[in-house]
Amino acid sequence: MLDERLEAEIVVTGDEITSGQILDTNSQWLSQRLEELGVHVRYHTAVGDDIETIAGVIRQAVGRSDIVVVTGGLGPTPADVTREAIAQAVGRKLVLNEEALESIRQLFARRQRPMPPRNEKQAMLPEGARPIANLNGTAPGIDLEVDRADGKKCRLFALPGVPAEMREMWTHQVVGRLRQAGVGTRMILRRRLHAFGAGESQIVAMLPGLIKAAEGPQVGITAHEGTITLRIAVEGPTLEACQAAAEPIVQQIRQKLGHLVFGEEDEGLEHAVIQLLRQRRQNLAVVEWGTEGLVNRFLASVPEGAGFYLGGLVVADPSGLKQALNLPEQLLQQHGLRSAAVAEVMARRLSELFQTDWALAVPCFPPFDPQAEKPELAALALAHPGGAKSRTLPYAAHPAMLKVLFAKHALNFLRLELLGAGS
Ligand code: ATP
Repeated sequence: MLDERLEAEIVVTGDEITSGQILDTNSQWLSQRLEELGVHVRYHTAVGDDIETIAGVIRQAVGRSDIVVVTGGLGPTPADVTREAIAQAVGRKLVLNEEALESIRQLFARRQRPMPPRNEKQAMLPEGARPIANLNGTAPGIDLEVDRADGKKCRLFALPGVPAEMREMWTHQVVGRLRQAGVGTRMILRRRLHAFGAGESQIVAMLPGLIKAAEGPQVGITAHEGTITLRIAVEGPTLEACQAAAEPIVQQIRQKLGHLVFGEEDEGLEHAVIQLLRQRRQNLAVVEWGTEGLVNRFLASVPEGAGFYLGGLVVADPSGLKQALNLPEQLLQQHGLRSAAVAEVMARRLSELFQTDWALAVPCFPPFDPQAEKPELAALALAHPGGAKSRTLPYAAHPAMLKVLFAKHALNFLRLELLGAGS
């Protein structure tokens, strides 16, 4: 097997998967393992327990990929048809494999149970296949090399569907066989950079030529709850080579996106905020009404925040807020509870109450009206050593996302002010 750019695909079988009763975690796990060996996974296919359909999918997979991993359908019941489907797909007969039969016999002996005749079926492998021993179940796996029409070869592995059995066999047997065939001398390194404050298309426009370039390191982009993630994938012979190839891309993205980038890998906006507070040796409190305490929860989840993020107030109803922060009635009547002016006073009062350098007020946004012509504005405010500042945000997003988006905007507002980059 040549160790150039190897391409793999995964075929999972089972009516339980295609009917949505169980989630296919085998493809996810196997894809990660293949990637660790530097193998690109191009397709995941899930197929029900029908011999013709499975055979069709396997025929196609074997014809276009260097490595095919099939899981499921190796059991002893009539519904387990993967062996037959593989034999049909590659045009080989099923023959009794003595080594596989012996391992099934031994399993029953270890369990001190007689071996039912139907389990013999599990020792029938396509001609030329090597069994893969299964120490935890009856179904031996299949390891088969197939000639492709284009003159290349495809290595097919079939493993049981039970995740624990499949993983054990992959780790202790398949990986060794792949390495023997020269696979795994290259690796893929992935890095993630997170940005907030601009939309996906805006960010793509700021990185011309970088996203999904055909050659060299690949940069992909995904969006999740307002956070834009740039995903860099670099392939090379060693970790050092991959790191050296990835670093200039990371620097280029950071330079082009500036303060939009707030972190890498598993860092959230809350980590960036805590890091800045630590650098400045300043502390923070947060009052929230309307975001279910999300901002406080995000900040409290960062262990390094102890002594810098002091806590705050989370209220479900404004009456508690008025009392706790002693908000003047006249101000409320003049500006309204959700106004920027009131948010600023909330922030100032909180900073006095908690004796902090910074205080963030995240009040409730106005009731959502999908019919409204213009989105209403929601206010956020920050009290800081130099005074107080507020910001309004258009209140327009899917209702399921609003709270988390608003919470992230609040953290980002704070982050930019801590950086001295606020507008
Ligand atoms: P065995 O004979 O050891 O049961 P098998 O190859 O016949 O192995 P299946 O009958 O296809 O395996 O699957 C057994 C169980 O494994 C399923 O009921 C399911 O719980 C789990 N399973 C199968 N495929 C997957 C998958 N792709 N992702 C997660 N779990 C799976």
